[in-house]
Amino acid sequence: MKIRKYLFFIATITFVLQYACVSNKEIQQKTTPQKEVTTKPAKEEVVETPIKKVFKKKVVPKKDDEISLLFIGDFMGHMDQIKAAYNKKTKKYEYDECFSKIKPILSDADVTLGNLEVTLGVKPYSGYPQFSSPPSYASAIKNAGVDILTTSNNHSCDKRKKGVERTIKILDSLNIGHTGTFINQVEKTKNPAYVIEKNNFKIAVISYTYGTNGLKPTPPNIVNYLDKATIKKDVDYVNSKINPDQIIAFVHWGDQYKDLPNKSQKDMFAYFKSLGVNIVIGAHPHVLQPMKWNKPTAENPKEDFVVYSLGNFVSHQRTFPRDGGAVLKLSLRKDKDQKVHIKKADYFLTWVYEPIVNGNKEYYVLPADEYSKKPESFTKKKDYDKMMRFIKHARTLLGKHNVNINEYK
Ligand SMILES: [Zn+2]
Repeated sequence: MKIRKYLFFIATITFVLQYACVSNKEIQQKTTPQKEVTTKPAKEEVVETPIKKVFKKKVVPKKDDEISLLFIGDFMGHMDQIKAAYNKKTKKYEYDECFSKIKPILSDADVTLGNLEVTLGVKPYSGYPQFSSPPSYASAIKNAGVDILTTSNNHSCDKRKKGVERTIKILDSLNIGHTGTFINQVEKTKNPAYVIEKNNFKIAVISYTYGTNGLKPTPPNIVNYLDKATIKKDVDYVNSKINPDQIIAFVHWGDQYKDLPNKSQKDMFAYFKSLGVNIVIGAHPHVLQPMKWNKPTAENPKEDFVVYSLGNFVSHQRTFPRDGGAVLKLSLRKDKDQKVHIKKADYFLTWVYEPIVNGNKEYYVLPADEYSKKPESFTKKKDYDKMMRFIKHARTLLGKHNVNINEYK
């Protein structure tokens, strides 16, 4: 009898455990949209020290009361990019080549900003759907001329607390400015915005995301969400603490793969404007969306500026038109009354080229117009044709919907 009772107990426990495992698996399947591809897990996790290089940015002649800002879209980190960056000889992840053709463009401004849509340094490195890239990705982004990265996007919490914190620490160690996620409230209170102080300007950059793919930040970590009450509180605090000449919001919003903004993007832009934040730059849809600069008029002396989506700057998304993006160059000037005005705004088209060289895939972000005149640079005509298709689409879309913002080449 005792044995029978014991066997029954064991059977019950086994059943409960099995059921628990299945339930857990089911939950994971429900929340994980696609199978995660990862590299082989390292036995013991060692945080790589990012490669630090002496980097000289192109010197833009200093002009007081004028500043040029360059905004770029999403830096994605798919598994194909991670594999392509791995150098079997040096056993290191090397990304510099990827930006070698576009570096002169990214360096040609006083300050360059982009959105980092991966977490950094959490092994095993992984692509979609939960991104973690090697620290050397950030070093290469900096070497390419980028000064500031926003970290609030739908992938901020992909590697939970470790990912949020390690990303911030790695960016700090590389001296890359960042905003959007914070270790805790004390840090956010200290630095509620990234402040650009250059050429007699004080510009506060704030950053928000519509969500984090259902993965909430682990307290005390903070991710800035596109929530009206939070934004109002932050803007009021930034104004009182920093007293900037201008606030710029870099936001993560919109519907993926849609050419035109949705109602909530337009509504959120109107809300930013009501708080006095009249320059808003967006990304996330993985494709380009229109850019509008409403210049001041007699009836409406307040100008405003919005870019709904800059698209992918670099990614392994090959489906047209996700294979390219735009860089936005915004020049601001100060009047005698010390008020900030937009002097000029233009966009530049980029396209991601993935050739196979000596049996290995390589990545290059190309200045699209320049390469449209160099079909001989492509190993396959079909790649050149793909780029031309992207350029044509971008010019048609932005030509039709942009207001006062044209292409520069
Ligand atoms: Zn996104």
